[in-house]
Amino acid sequence: MGQSLKVYRELLEEAEMLSGEIEELKKNPEVQDYVRNTTRLFMIRDILANAESILYAEEMRECSHIWVTSEVSSRELDGGRTDVHVYETCLKCGLDTKSVDRVRSGYFYPFDSTMASVLRTTGKIGIDSGVECSYPLAKSIYDRIVLENPGIIDDQAILYLRQALYNIRRHLDSETVNYNRARRLSLAPDFINWNKSDIYTK
Ligand SMILES: [Zn+2]
Repeated sequence: MGQSLKVYRELLEEAEMLSGEIEELKKNPEVQDYVRNTTRLFMIRDILANAESILYAEEMRECSHIWVTSEVSSRELDGGRTDVHVYETCLKCGLDTKSVDRVRSGYFYPFDSTMASVLRTTGKIGIDSGVECSYPLAKSIYDRIVLENPGIIDDQAILYLRQALYNIRRHLDSETVNYNRARRLSLAPDFINWNKSDIYTK
């Protein structure tokens, strides 16, 4: 105990001495510059770390969204009632209404809290495409349409998308066709959501 008390007192003394020296150093203009610049640098680094999320939030707020129904999930509740959740995702910016539920559950992806916050402030505005479809499929077709038709207006792009999905749905008969189509659309060659229930327009 005696030895511990001795070490404690020595450290206390050293701490007081260091504190006094630091106060003296702070009177030096160069040290003041150092402290000011270091504080500013840490602040800027914090802002930069959040910049990606801030820029994405900006992009989502400025987007005139085109919504597709990307997921419909339902589960049986007690008493024979069914709990149905309909989730929608924007074809342009990726804003996903499911982000709100994911944040609430505590298991969420990196940008989910940014998306949930955008949805809270702006609400779900934009055009409903009337399409219910696996998101990667709808997104890859939409991107292709926009690439091949520069300057296309949203309503026209939606018409093309609906037609493309209609055509796919009518010709779901061969693994080879599906495989080749997936490759053309830059989907994984083993893309699995080709069943008709995943590709239809409301
Ligand atoms: Zn959008």
